Parts: sequence; C-alpha cells; structure tokens
Amino acid sequence: MSNSPPLDVRFECQQSGHCCCDPQIIVTTTFLDIFQIFSQLDGDFEYLLKKLTFYRVETDLNLELRKRLVLTPVQTSDGKIIPGLMKINGLNCVFYSKPNCSIYNSRPRACRNYPIAFLGAEAEAPFIWAKDSKETCPGIGKGIPLSFPSVIQQGKITLEEINTHNDLVHELNIEASKGKPLSAREVVWMFIVYAEKYSSENNS
Ligand code: SF4
Repeated sequence: MSNSPPLDVRFECQQSGHCCCDPQIIVTTTFLDIFQIFSQLDGDFEYLLKKLTFYRVETDLNLELRKRLVLTPVQTSDGKIIPGLMKINGLNCVFYSKPNCSIYNSRPRACRNYPIAFLGAEAEAPFIWAKDSKETCPGIGKGIPLSFPSVIQQGKITLEEINTHNDLVHELNIEASKGKPLSAREVVWMFIVYAEKYSSENNS
C-alpha cells in the first residue's frame, strides 16, 4: 500500500502526545532548530545543553534510524554525532509536558512537519506520511483539508533548511579533517552563531 497522502490531505493535531513519546521517533535538530530553542530558553546555553543529546551515528542509532537520517553527521572530538532532543528514559521528549509541547512556538522543524515527511522536489511523491504515522497518529484524516500549495511550500522551506545545515556541517567537517575537531559543545555554539547571522541576513 502506498504511503503517499491522497490529494485530500487532512490533518489536525489531537494532542495525543504519541509522536512526542514514541520510542521509535527521535527528533534531530538543525542549526536553526537549536538557535530557536536557545532563544526560547532566554539564551541559557548551559540549560540548552542539558536538553540536547548527541547521537553517535555508529553506536547509538540502529540501521533503520540511520537510513532515515537527513542531517549530515558532524565530526567532533567525540566521534561523528547528530544533535537531537533528549528523551526521558528513551520515551518522552524532554520538552513534552502532558498534554502539550512546552516549547511549542519554537519546536524543531521535524515536529512542525509531523506527520508529513518531505522527499524533495525531484521525488515521484514530494511528500509522504511519516513512517508508522498512519497507524499511530490520531490527527490524520481529521480537520479540514490542508492546502496543497502550503504543504509544498513547507517542504521547500524544510529542504532549504536541511541543505543549509548540511553545507555548514560540511564546512565544519573540512576544518575538523585539517586539525583538532571541535567538541559537541563547541559545535552547538557554532550552530548558534551561524544561525544568528543567517537569520538576520534572511529576515532583513
Ligand atoms: S519538541 Fe515539542 S513537539 Fe517536538 S517532540 Fe518534543 S514535545 Fe513534541
């Protein structure tokens, strides 16, 4: 059975919390996601670090999760990592406060898009339902139909953000290959500095 949404795509969040508490879902974060959360936390860098986790690609992620990664791993002094949101006991997202997200307005792009996953303009279907979401997300099929152009626009923004993130990581990885790689902490700081510059250039 195809995983592509029909043309009549309906989704309205029912605040079930399933996606925020599903052990099979990890939320990886782009440089812009991290910057937005940093701003939401009033610029408290130490507090931000307590909410993040650094998935070591080779040891922390199973093959299934590795195949679904869209962010390029960063070479750090502690190996290749992907930053993401911490989960409590491997279940609830650290920002989940039943029945809501405590950083709703600053939640990562992946959370904003769920249960839709974008595959890129070249793909046969530019977007699909995220893996297993049709079985677990009670919001699918609810509400008024989503506007097709706005979903496509959302996909474009997402892909641009991912590409910009991966370009930045590529630069960091080139620098890491020349000398001493940054620590994960330093990488997060670099993301924030870059995102601040990127945001001011793109909002002006
Ligand atoms: S950031 Fe918010 S929306 Fe995203 S998984 Fe965590 S609690 Fe859910």
